[in-house]
Amino acid sequence: MGRLVVVSNRIADPRKTAAGGLAVALAEVLNNTGGMWFGWSGKIVDHSEVDDVHLEHAGPVKLAMVDLSKADHDAFYLGYSNGVLWPVFHYRLDLADFDAGYIAGYRRVNQLFARKLLPLLREDDVIWVHDYHLIPLAAELRALGCTQRIGFFLHIPLPPPLMLAAIPGHDWLIRALFAYDLVGFQSESDLDHFARYVESEAHAQRLEDQRWRAFGRTVHAGAFPIGIDVQEFEQLAAGAEATDMYERMKREYYRRKLLVGVDRLDYSKGLPQRMRAFREFLAKNPELRSSATLIQIASPSRENVEAYTDILHELESLCGSINGNFGELDWMPVRYIHRTVPRARLPGLYKASRVALVTPLRDGMNLVAKEFLAAQDEEDPGVLVLSRFAGAAEQLKEALLVNPYDTEGTATAILLALQMPLEERRERHQALMRSVRQYDVHWWCESFLGALAEARAEEKGTSWL
Ligand code: ADP
Repeated sequence: MGRLVVVSNRIADPRKTAAGGLAVALAEVLNNTGGMWFGWSGKIVDHSEVDDVHLEHAGPVKLAMVDLSKADHDAFYLGYSNGVLWPVFHYRLDLADFDAGYIAGYRRVNQLFARKLLPLLREDDVIWVHDYHLIPLAAELRALGCTQRIGFFLHIPLPPPLMLAAIPGHDWLIRALFAYDLVGFQSESDLDHFARYVESEAHAQRLEDQRWRAFGRTVHAGAFPIGIDVQEFEQLAAGAEATDMYERMKREYYRRKLLVGVDRLDYSKGLPQRMRAFREFLAKNPELRSSATLIQIASPSRENVEAYTDILHELESLCGSINGNFGELDWMPVRYIHRTVPRARLPGLYKASRVALVTPLRDGMNLVAKEFLAAQDEEDPGVLVLSRFAGAAEQLKEALLVNPYDTEGTATAILLALQMPLEERRERHQALMRSVRQYDVHWWCESFLGALAEARAEEKGTSWL
């Protein structure tokens, strides 16, 4: 394989251990190929200052970064990426703000990325573009004459055709996917939505081997569910910080079973629904009340987008009312913490918990589910309660699968999870870990890049835009 060039909106510095599984896995491949990571520097500057690419070396990996002007950042990142694509792709048409100015900014930044990236490319580079911020990047690159192999991976879900069709300019957006050689999704259901959309809206012809032909080009598409770096996580779990966290939690909560939720504070995570299900569980099972505590860690996220402040207030008020109505002098049912837990401590928290509540309303994959499983003591493992609407549910069938909109059903699953006998917990955990280990982040990287190496669109350099 030639040099790998990864492109994403944000660059995670592979030298920092806090970077997490994806950055570590990508850094490994980048290291092996002496590759380059291209993306936004994280800096917002005056329009007149957006010019050169900043280059930095992180070992054998080259980091190439561009700044954005405030107007571009607002329209591209806050506006189109997180005010249109994020809500619609998570099935929340009601939260989308289809301001016409946003799409222009989205296009401008993709054009800027293409213009800045092109001169840095070599003939035999393989380019891997990540996520919804950069869907039209390959089309912009092709318009400038780029003929290298380009793959795209969508980390978030792809909604059904008619929901996609609600986005003004959806045909332009999906047409842009045909500029890639390979398009990867998290789940079979996302792939199915893609197939149905392009066949019905773009009259694409379905060829063999998961290829579709439209707009004079052929694109390969597939499902490549992302995983975690199990080894890295197990090492983290055995480390001093995780062990300290585990022991402190065990000491503090020795009389109780812990339930845990760890999420970004995002409306797609189903946090209010989770709280209502826990409240229902408390109301229905008074005898179990003081023996269970739910720890909900919700890290701040996109606080300058309005829908995020709404969800924050809703969650605070629900937690307050549950504690007010059910709490005792020596017991509070919910510990809600609006913060990020340091990554090195997370496995300790997971391991000390009997139950994880991973109940998003919609999620591309959800890595917390896999991290929780990897952190368990296999002799006495905890139970995963998982939303059927997380991409992970296609793989993690031995979890207790729930519909997060069904308050009573989820409350019943919480009860079952807390009372599950040891033998059944072990059996489920073993089966789940087989999948987590097999489909880890290295499998994901290798299988995507392997498929990209095979995928060769027949036509190059077609006019796109
Ligand atoms: P998303 O990418 O939508 O945030 P995922 O579950 O796929 O959801 O990935 C979240 C990642 O961020 C996981 O690695 C998880 O450990 C980490 N994370 C999420 N919330 C927190 C938190 N409150 N504190 C620390 N880490 C968190």
